[in-house]
Amino acid sequence: MGAMLNIFDFSFEELSDYFQDELHEPSFRATQVWQWLYQKLCFDFDQMSNLKVATRQTLAQTFSSELPKIKQVRTSSDGTQKLLLELADSKLIETVLIPATDHAGKVRYAQCLSTQVGCPMGCTFCATGALGFERNLTHGEIISQVLAARSFIGDVRPDHPIIKNLVFMGMGEPLLNLDQLLRALKTLNSTHGLAFSPRRITVSTCGIPKALDTLGESGLCYLAVSLHAPNQALRAKIMPKAALFELNDLLANLKHYPLKTREYLTFEYLLLGGVNDSTAHALELAKIVQAMKAKLNLIVYNPTQNAPYKAPSSDDVLKFEKVLWDKKITAIVRQSKGQDIEAACGQLRAKYLEDASAIE
Ligand code: SAH
Ligand code: SF4
Repeated sequence: MGAMLNIFDFSFEELSDYFQDELHEPSFRATQVWQWLYQKLCFDFDQMSNLKVATRQTLAQTFSSELPKIKQVRTSSDGTQKLLLELADSKLIETVLIPATDHAGKVRYAQCLSTQVGCPMGCTFCATGALGFERNLTHGEIISQVLAARSFIGDVRPDHPIIKNLVFMGMGEPLLNLDQLLRALKTLNSTHGLAFSPRRITVSTCGIPKALDTLGESGLCYLAVSLHAPNQALRAKIMPKAALFELNDLLANLKHYPLKTREYLTFEYLLLGGVNDSTAHALELAKIVQAMKAKLNLIVYNPTQNAPYKAPSSDDVLKFEKVLWDKKITAIVRQSKGQDIEAACGQLRAKYLEDASAIE
């Protein structure tokens, strides 16, 4: 028997075509299979009771429907849960569930997704960057993170989802894996698939020319841009590769990024103690944000192992925030959640690999 195909790597159109062309069955079989997989979280072809038994057998012989294995779960005192997932080739990636309480007092999660094993951008503050780049994730591996997390927390009622929002802020630079990202976004958006509205999905990028335009034209998600410095010189120091796309060019590009009604760009600004958190930096940043239809998230740095940075003092964070508020900019400070569980991007995997090598 040849190598199995992963059912999660098939787009809806591809699976419809497969039924028509290979199995000579009506293409609405794809709708049925997707309902089992993405809405009922049933991954066992034998149980897909509205398919003929022979079809179920063929599917089981042709496709694997295995999800990544959950290798480790860490729960923070603030409720953040971090899952370490093992892919079919035993590479490790991370996905994080960040809790928030909705208006009815119920806990709902935003899930942080990875797009690459490692990352080639090498930002100096980032644990994933320090790991280097191993490979891109496939469509199936990107959406499997959602399926694995939904199965794990028992999020099995599509009419009352517990995971409400998705943010591509895990490991990797999404726009360097553009093809698989776009395919995954389509499946996430699709009413046949996971049915997340584009308003509930945010892709975070350090800014990659051309790919940004393609993502904007797709209209499949919101955009967040990792700025982290208010001028080219400082940005080049802390994100040397990202800064090859000059700040002025990045900003000019974002000026005509297509936004829907009531839609804003989000800038992310990671506050590194004594590096980019002065009043002068805040004033420079205010000018940039004011010139755009944009919101600003300030992220307090979560110290990673062996990194050359420290967290800013809470006084400095307040001062920085006040400068922006005085300029009428809505800046939301996000304390990195899950500090006690190495929840910042790439940290858990780094820790896991270090512990594993310590045991050997
Ligand atoms: N590559 C994309 C998306 C993944 S990184 C990007 O750079 O936007 C997502 C976010 O994780 C970035 O905004 C980055 O600032 C944040 N991050 C990385 N390391 C961090 C750390 N040690 N503490 C807090 N946030 C961190
Ligand atoms: Fe890659 Fe984003 Fe980390 Fe930079 S911050 S190294 S782009 S994952």
